[in-house]
Amino acid sequence: MIVASDDTIFSDALRRLDKAFQFADVDPEVILRLKYPKATMQVAIPVRMDDGSLRVFEGYRVRYDDSRGPGKGGIRFHPSVSLGEVKALAFWMTCKCAVMGIPFGGAKGGVTVNPKELSRLELERLSRGFIRQIADFIGPDRDIPAPDVYTNAMIMGWMMDEYSKLSGQRVPAVITGKPIPLGGSLGRDDATGRGAYYCIKEFESRKGWVPGEMRVAVQGFGNAGQSVAQLLYADGYKIVAVSDSQGGIHNEDGFDIPSLAYMKNESRRLEAVYCNGALCETINADRLTNEELLKLDVDILIPAAMENQITIENAEQIKAHVIVEVANGPITSQADEILNKNGKIIIPDILANAGGVTVSYFEWVQNKAGYYWPLDEVHSKLRAIMTREFGNIYDLMQKYECDMRTAAYVLALTRINEAISAHGTDRYFSGND
Ligand code: GLU
Repeated sequence: MIVASDDTIFSDALRRLDKAFQFADVDPEVILRLKYPKATMQVAIPVRMDDGSLRVFEGYRVRYDDSRGPGKGGIRFHPSVSLGEVKALAFWMTCKCAVMGIPFGGAKGGVTVNPKELSRLELERLSRGFIRQIADFIGPDRDIPAPDVYTNAMIMGWMMDEYSKLSGQRVPAVITGKPIPLGGSLGRDDATGRGAYYCIKEFESRKGWVPGEMRVAVQGFGNAGQSVAQLLYADGYKIVAVSDSQGGIHNEDGFDIPSLAYMKNESRRLEAVYCNGALCETINADRLTNEELLKLDVDILIPAAMENQITIENAEQIKAHVIVEVANGPITSQADEILNKNGKIIIPDILANAGGVTVSYFEWVQNKAGYYWPLDEVHSKLRAIMTREFGNIYDLMQKYECDMRTAAYVLALTRINEAISAHGTDRYFSGND
């Protein structure tokens, strides 16, 4: 993995603003405001380990912008978490919530840790410890966390419980992505992958793709990567390569995705298998690295792992025609230029992976109302929003003859501009309006 230095990723993320500003009719004050996170918190989390020793972990929460509503965004547990990365992720959340038209600003959190090295009890202590440290910074109407890389529903449940203890009352709406019995929403678990799938279906109908002829490679076989692969597989798409952090497998005949997912989730390993019930047999597949997977000659490439995967170093070698950014920030701004020049279509992260936060919004609404929706209602409401915003972005792309990412940022900026301008900007106060 290519790791960008702490603030490089953040300044790279901001470059997209300047590009979109050329097209969007927004007040320059809005761009100025969006270059700075509104509030940043850095904490130390002491954790008693199982062997009696003490370790201190570093954590962050950034509330980037709340002009459209309370901050919203996940918490990741990963060894490469840094303040610069969390700022970039919080900025992307701001744009993502605006693109979806949901009433939230953007935020993000993270702890620098490899959770795979912790026992379950250590993980629980760390999760609760982090929430104790940021409890005054978050809240159901201030900033609402959710899962992200290497965090899950159980961790969200611990966090909600810890916050509720501190508040002296149950506060389910402080966090989303919780287990269903603790106030989670049906359909939140596969929402990120499902949103990306709905975007692909929109392209399919506009371009007349035949699913059985479409070859797909998925980098990252975690929650989102698995969900989008499962849904595409069920429609007849051929998933010819998948990978996890250890490396990948490739087979031109396509994989049986439910079997691969079963194996990965049971054993934490990715092997080419065919499973009949709990009986799995290993089948033939070529091994390949994550880097090789990105360069495969496929129709659709789905980076669903981490940021900075396609950079100036490998962008020229990308052969896929369509790239669907299920991860946040997998393509740098310089790589974008090269891919655009080479005629690649990129469905940008702030649209493609926005299904997760959209169903998080549904969960928050259900928590506030105390009234829970059936799964088909969640799916149809998600599909309606994804389809509507995909269409808005597609139209902007044609109107401005720009790439899809720029069109998505134009849409985000237009909506953030509306909220900020409603309080008055220089144009209003200086009487030039
Ligand atoms: N972590 C997810 C994202 O990057 C979901 C955020 C949320 O549900 O608030 O979009």
